[in-house]
Amino acid sequence: MTDAILVIGGGIAGINCAMNAAKYGAKVYLVDDTPSIGGMMARLDKTFPTNDCSICIEAPQMYEVDNHERIEILTNAEVRRVQAGGGIFKIRLLQKPKFVDESKCTGCGACVEACPVSLPDPLDGKIGGRRKLISMAFPQAVPNKVAIDPRCRSGAMRAAGACVGGCAVDCSQCRECPIALCVKACEKEGKKAVTLWQANRNIDIEVKSIVVATGIRNAPPAGDLLGYDRYPNVITNTEFERLMNAGGPTAGHIVRPSDQQPAHRIVWVQCAGRGLGPGRGTPYCSKVCCMIATKQAIIAKEHDSSIEAAIFYNDLKAYGKGFWDFHRKALENGVRFVRARPYVVSEDPVTHNLTVRYEHLDTGELRQQAADLLVLSTGLIPGDRNERLAKVLKIELDHLGFFKERDPILAPLETAVEGIYLCGGATGPIDIAESVTQATAAAMKAVLKN
Ligand SMILES: Cc1cc2nc3c(=O)[nH]c(=O)nc-3n(C[C@H](O)[C@H](O)[C@H](O)COP(=O)(O)OP(=O)(O)OC[C@H]3O[C@@H](n4cnc5c(N)ncnc54)[C@H](O)[C@@H]3O)c2cc1C
Repeated sequence: MTDAILVIGGGIAGINCAMNAAKYGAKVYLVDDTPSIGGMMARLDKTFPTNDCSICIEAPQMYEVDNHERIEILTNAEVRRVQAGGGIFKIRLLQKPKFVDESKCTGCGACVEACPVSLPDPLDGKIGGRRKLISMAFPQAVPNKVAIDPRCRSGAMRAAGACVGGCAVDCSQCRECPIALCVKACEKEGKKAVTLWQANRNIDIEVKSIVVATGIRNAPPAGDLLGYDRYPNVITNTEFERLMNAGGPTAGHIVRPSDQQPAHRIVWVQCAGRGLGPGRGTPYCSKVCCMIATKQAIIAKEHDSSIEAAIFYNDLKAYGKGFWDFHRKALENGVRFVRARPYVVSEDPVTHNLTVRYEHLDTGELRQQAADLLVLSTGLIPGDRNERLAKVLKIELDHLGFFKERDPILAPLETAVEGIYLCGGATGPIDIAESVTQATAAAMKAVLKN
């Protein structure tokens, strides 16, 4: 029998689950299918309701799991096969290559500097974020190593200047590369960490229980929602979070994507897209968006007190401990909360200033509001890899796509398969404190399973 546990997903829930299970004495495999653990919290600026710096809270926990003798972190890895029997799960993981030898990479960044090619960042693209073909996920990444975008190994990137001169050979066929600029930069530092010829690796493990902690995603604004597809100054709340983050693409300057000028009139639209019908927005309340907007408005005004911040909302959700006081703090700081339903947004094509037309929900009047920046709170949706993972684990998703609990009242965090548990955003929209609470409970259930 093994006492090992597999935690799938290395966000704040997975990290806390791993840490607790290891403290209870279990061997833990913490698997994430991206190059670093950290999840969404690592990309946030500050966290409601305390406005503590997000990465400053999470990074020490990331380092603790990284250095724990009973925790093995496997990044860029996904669960491919699960065989249950005799009280254990036999698992095959597939680890995709980062094209970097992690035992040699020191995260010095010389290769990143040398790489001349950058592509729009998947998270920060609309607000100008770009990512080099070789890069670190974020400065505090764990492991603190670089990874190469798999697209780099194609001829197109060579043509874009990633290498000195041309080459007709597939990178996987060579054991030495004399032309890639990142390889040369690494060698100049006295290391040979860039290994373009790495291949997929199968890893087989046996565990007695599994915790799914695969988290949430921000819903993309569907169907040109309030001009999102047409107007550069209409962004999502995740993009705004990155805009005000010192580690984001604008180094924390709250500027408009259209002209990089400071945004003075900022309007948040809550429940953006909600109720618009299938494929157009979330049909449910995501719980946390009201506090996210409140936090963002408070911080925007801390950056510059002359900013006019207005939150257009329908029904304010301040459900958690300290949340109502947080709302009051925003009011005291001059944030306007307007019960409003915006129905159309237009843009001045020269200045890119926006006009939001809305129905005032207290009076029924139709009004308009000028804005430099419009922030859409589109809600949280299930992870896009949930469906595949549910099939592999032979567990169910609910009708929204989150993982289904066996009995949400009497057996929360348990699935219909004995030995497979859930925590964090895998169960539904959730805040950080609740994710950590669930992670602690899931760790205990996973350790206690016979
Ligand atoms: C813009 C924004 C601002 C927010 N601000 C706050 C705030 O101020 N305070 C607050 O309390 N909450 C806030 N939240 C909510 C907070 O982000 C979540 O509560 C928290 O991230 C949930 O943690 P998690 O670990 O469950 O999921 P995640 O952070 O989403 O992490 C999940 C991890 O699982 C990995 N993963 C996914 N699928 C797989 C798979 N199949 N195999 C392997 N790995 C996988 C992902 O790569 C990721 O690393 C905010 C959310 C957003 C979008």
